[in-house]
Amino acid sequence: MSKKKRILTGDRPTGPLHLGHYVGSLKNRVLLQDKDDYEQFILIADIQALTDNYDNPQKIKDNILKLTLDYLSVGINPGKSTIIIQSQIPELAELTIYLMNMITVAQLERNPTVKNEIRQKGYRENVPVGFFVYPISQAADILGFQANLVPVGEDQLPMIEQSREIVRRFNSLYGQTFVEPKEMLSEVPRLCGIDGKEKMSKSLNNTINLSDSSDVVYEKVMKMYTDPTRVRATDPGHTENNPVFIYLNVFHDDKREIKDFEDKYRLGKVGDIEVKKRLAEILNNFLEPIRQKREEYEKNIPLVNSILKEGTERGREVVQQTMSLVRKAVKTDYFG
Ligand code: ATP
Ligand code: MG
Repeated sequence: MSKKKRILTGDRPTGPLHLGHYVGSLKNRVLLQDKDDYEQFILIADIQALTDNYDNPQKIKDNILKLTLDYLSVGINPGKSTIIIQSQIPELAELTIYLMNMITVAQLERNPTVKNEIRQKGYRENVPVGFFVYPISQAADILGFQANLVPVGEDQLPMIEQSREIVRRFNSLYGQTFVEPKEMLSEVPRLCGIDGKEKMSKSLNNTINLSDSSDVVYEKVMKMYTDPTRVRATDPGHTENNPVFIYLNVFHDDKREIKDFEDKYRLGKVGDIEVKKRLAEILNNFLEPIRQKREEYEKNIPLVNSILKEGTERGREVVQQTMSLVRKAVKTDYFG
């Protein structure tokens, strides 16, 4: 039997998962867990989440269970995918330390995603060291699992590239130890926010969450940013870069109906409210089965906790195997 390829993906337990997560990554994970030649690990990156939330550890702790409910409700099957809590695998922290020697401060400073996040968070000169080096700890997550494939959204591409740089450096210094991971982008690698900002993101308060009630979804859609140049419903409107039409195209199968809406919108023959009402309906139809599944699991929290516990144990074994290779390579295996 040939060895299965490994997949490592994950999320920060910083808040509820949203539509961007679904199309950017979760959808692929649900498909990939059915492939026989792959083994999928899903990492809840609580240590990474603490790098910019160290002042609020309770929030991170509370979000671990919520995140797991999000996974299970979209169809992640714990019989097929292994869900892991990062902090419970201390070997990942150990690996991070070794990998820190494989990359320079200048390389980290060039990471465009981190640069952007530092700006967003307003850190200026006061970037916590832990936050600055989180791409290294993320590389350790990927390499610790010897992952071949990493399904991610577009913002994560620099992390995967830096992970590969770290692998090359490590392997050339100490001999072949790690495999080079490859990213896997979805058809929608970046979904915009309801405010029209380029990324729907937990930190930007512009999300529609998988756990939002139908009323909340309706309200959020009604507040959505549309075409700022359009004052009256009879003005010709723009459908490009208009989140309402972007979401319609991503979440609605009836392309004829969308085309019809687009044509009318451009001619000023349909108002924002009418299109939005239809969009809210479409999104709620999409979210309804997810809500129902969540309710099932919410009734059985001990089961959810045992899924986390067993997944983490299985994951730790895998990382421990990697670490025995690493300690040999860097000659810290003193006692065998
Ligand atoms: P935070 O603001 O705390 O960083 P986030 O919304 O960026 O939260 P993460 O947990 O950092 O979410 O990201 C988890 C995964 O989801 C990553 O692979 C990321 O690329 C993907 N992802 C997040 N937001 C989007 C989006 N709007 N479109 C596509 N993929 C996304
Ligand atoms: Mg993020």
